[in-house]
Amino acid sequence: MSTEPLRSTRSTCPYCGVGCGVLIKSRGEQIVGVEGDPEHPANFGRLCTKGSTLHLTARAEVQQQLRLLQPMQRLERGGAAQPLAWEPALGLASQRLAEIWQRHGPDAIGVYVSGQLLTEDYYVFNKLVKGLLGSNHIDTNSRLCMSSAVAGYKATLGADAPPCSYEDLALAQTVLITGSNMAWAHPVLFARLEEARRANPQQKWIVVDPRRTETAERADLHLQLLPGSDVALMHGMLHLMLWESLIDRRYIEQHTSGFEALRDRVREWTPQAAARATGCREDDIVTAARWFAASPASLSLYCQGLNQSSSGTDKNIALINLHLATGQIGKPGAGPFSLTGQPNAMGGREVGGLANLLSAHRDLARPQDRAEVAALWGLPDVPATPGRTAVEMFQAAADGEVKALWIACTNPAQSLPDQAMVRRALERAEFVLVQESFANTATAQWADLLLPATTWGEKDGTVTNSERRISRVRAAVAAPGQARHDWAMAVDIAQRLARQIGPASLTPEQRVAMFDYPDAQSIWEEHRASTQGRDLDITGLSYELLEQVGPQQWPMAQGQTQGRARLYEDGVFPTADGRARFVDIAPRPLAETRRAAFPFSLNTGRLRDQWHGMSRTGTLGRLLGHTSQPMVELHPQDMARLRLVDGDEVGLSSGRGQVVLSAKGNAAVAPAQAFVPMHWGSESLIGRTADGRLHGGINELTTPVFCPKSKQPELKHTAIRVEKLNLSWRLMARVWLPGRAVLALRQQLMQMLAQDDFKSLVMASVLPFGREEADADSAGGDVGDRGSSGLVLRAAASQPLPLKTLAPIAALLGLDGPALLAYEDAPHAQQRRLLLDAGGQRLRGYWLAGDTSGHELLDSLVLEATPLPGAARLLLAPGALRQRWLQAAPRSAQICTCLDVNEARIRAVLLKSEGQPEQRLQALQTQLRCGTECGSCLPRLRTLVAEIAPEAGAAAAAAVAL
Ligand code: SF4
Repeated sequence: MSTEPLRSTRSTCPYCGVGCGVLIKSRGEQIVGVEGDPEHPANFGRLCTKGSTLHLTARAEVQQQLRLLQPMQRLERGGAAQPLAWEPALGLASQRLAEIWQRHGPDAIGVYVSGQLLTEDYYVFNKLVKGLLGSNHIDTNSRLCMSSAVAGYKATLGADAPPCSYEDLALAQTVLITGSNMAWAHPVLFARLEEARRANPQQKWIVVDPRRTETAERADLHLQLLPGSDVALMHGMLHLMLWESLIDRRYIEQHTSGFEALRDRVREWTPQAAARATGCREDDIVTAARWFAASPASLSLYCQGLNQSSSGTDKNIALINLHLATGQIGKPGAGPFSLTGQPNAMGGREVGGLANLLSAHRDLARPQDRAEVAALWGLPDVPATPGRTAVEMFQAAADGEVKALWIACTNPAQSLPDQAMVRRALERAEFVLVQESFANTATAQWADLLLPATTWGEKDGTVTNSERRISRVRAAVAAPGQARHDWAMAVDIAQRLARQIGPASLTPEQRVAMFDYPDAQSIWEEHRASTQGRDLDITGLSYELLEQVGPQQWPMAQGQTQGRARLYEDGVFPTADGRARFVDIAPRPLAETRRAAFPFSLNTGRLRDQWHGMSRTGTLGRLLGHTSQPMVELHPQDMARLRLVDGDEVGLSSGRGQVVLSAKGNAAVAPAQAFVPMHWGSESLIGRTADGRLHGGINELTTPVFCPKSKQPELKHTAIRVEKLNLSWRLMARVWLPGRAVLALRQQLMQMLAQDDFKSLVMASVLPFGREEADADSAGGDVGDRGSSGLVLRAAASQPLPLKTLAPIAALLGLDGPALLAYEDAPHAQQRRLLLDAGGQRLRGYWLAGDTSGHELLDSLVLEATPLPGAARLLLAPGALRQRWLQAAPRSAQICTCLDVNEARIRAVLLKSEGQPEQRLQALQTQLRCGTECGSCLPRLRTLVAEIAPEAGAAAAAAVAL
């Protein structure tokens, strides 16, 4: 272990928009631990599974195997990237961009950035595009996440400003959670909400979701609506509120405009009509409306279920209409509160880093706003025409109009819809420049030039979370290798570009001086100055103040000593007449309705322990214990109708492509619907489209159709077909491997499986498993027989693959050679191998080619490290036989990731425990410790407590056992 002193650095979690504070523990230049910051007002010390394992994603072995540590140039597409020094790399970037700008004009360059960038990074990119390149063609992956919320706030309240605070969770009497599986997507906030209800058992929760998620399981009322029917539901609720005089007429008269048109609209939306349109029970709609309107304080929490829709803005508006009609806004515990998906989507919006925004919430369409930004930047003007948004930018590149794509801190070849189009765009663009921290993202494979970026633990700047709170992000360690900050790379390229191109009204020297930023703070101070007099005025804030008093909410103007917790308390809104606006909207159908050819609704969303494209969370076997493989969830009735059992492969097809996944029955998904996690891109899932091309993961299927107002694509609904594939050949392998090699091996395997030799595979994935430890706690990754990580390979084909084709795969995994116990039937392409540890008592790995049935038992034996329950060679028998001989049960699903506690152990304890639900939960926590660390599994534990009744005589049995 290093003898260097342990340091603690205050920073924030880089994942979701809850914006939890963290204390990063480091020794020398190595991050060795992370803790929740007890003083951060977002989390008060809590972290979820993702946040609490951040340090494990910064281990030296991850850095060595996956980080991009120097500039790399690809001389030909598809070829290997070659190292390049910084100076020629920056020269190449600026020369190619300047050439394209001069030849084709500013519209030929698209810049696509990220809600994970810091505010300072964002500010420089925004100024570079709008001030130097002279277009508005900068957009961000926040377009996929929050742009409908932005458009909804602006249309109704007049500004892109979430009016609430996290403290409102404890002050609300009714909480309406709509289009959000908070328990998984915003776990720390959900834990705060659970705590609020424990303190106030009168608090009621209404959850609106097409799935019965873990959040819905905890609701007092779950409205399981049909996909896309949210506006009809909210109109039905408003109708009832009007009918029963539950609206706040005084608030409507004094503080709003436009109510009459909406009132006339919802006249036809009786709860009965809404029930027909939404599939919900009429009584439930009535109950929801009464609870919401009659409550002293109603708070709405919402996310992608409203936003990722072709009518996303309208859904946001319909919800805000309810708040305005009942006066449920601008008071403690009340208001519409969008939950931000990304850590700094808010900061990006604040600096205007989108194709239709300007700095400090200014509007492109207003000449005065443009003049203010131009004056700040020392320019005669800035462009007025909105730029291309995310989908439009890639579509234009696919059509040959955009010639250069500059991508920073995001992975469009994983996350954008219609991956065939995205891949055409990346292929057709003349120059693809990618700033990245991880070398293995799908997008990085298309880069002509890759520039290494710093990441969590190395960056310095600020972020803004969902409740408008600005926190400092601090570097705990120096940038590894040659990695640099995103803003610094943008500055270096901008200054080189400025010598060649830019506004003709400025000299090259003046253009270069526009980007004269010695550090992150100098950028932030320019941003701060731009907010003066705006709704998000932060002229009272400074880095020093953030240092001294901690994170602050905006606005906080000069002279104020703290930020504002709640907006619109005076009923005055940032509109021309100071009134909030009701907007009359008609429900619109989905972009793709289900039809005979595509009779299922595909919904995509998050897993509890994964984040976005998994470039960071996917490095940890620990975080793949809860959901360990790509799969599609279907209702049990659909499973039966399609004659499917868990694990069977199904083909999912939309009008754009096909993906093969394992099926899993889950009653949480409604009939005729399918749920697939958004995380499974081509980095983790290999397969081919009908024309033989490698597909782009789940977004091969999704539709690029977007909301006409927010331009946010409808990632939450695609009409698909689901077909059983009767595959005759499968491959499964699992083996512990040295930690220092496991991630690099995974890369090699995925590349090998993508080659033509394996094109008959309809599906393949290679994922890590294990229980990684911090560098300070591990043996340095040299593992001997059984380490802390390994790989699991799954593949399937309609025809057997020759065993000799598979040989290099087995060799890479170390699952070949004379030391293994082996059975082989080459004519039938059957092969079974077992790798035992040195003592021959435990299974270290297995390989099953052909018939993989019963692999679950082998998985248990590899994972649990239990001594083999019989002669090892019995494990070479075919699956069913093996299981019968050994009388062993497969491992059950992991529930608690932190302490690796599975459902079977939880069930066993609950069967023996009596008492009130909280007492039974406590018994569970005392005996197994599950849910006592990060708490992300607590919603599931509470559901299991409710579902699993104690056996008769449990108390007596427990007493005897004790
Ligand atoms: Fe990070 Fe989890 Fe907090 Fe989100 S809830 S910021 S992922 S620790």
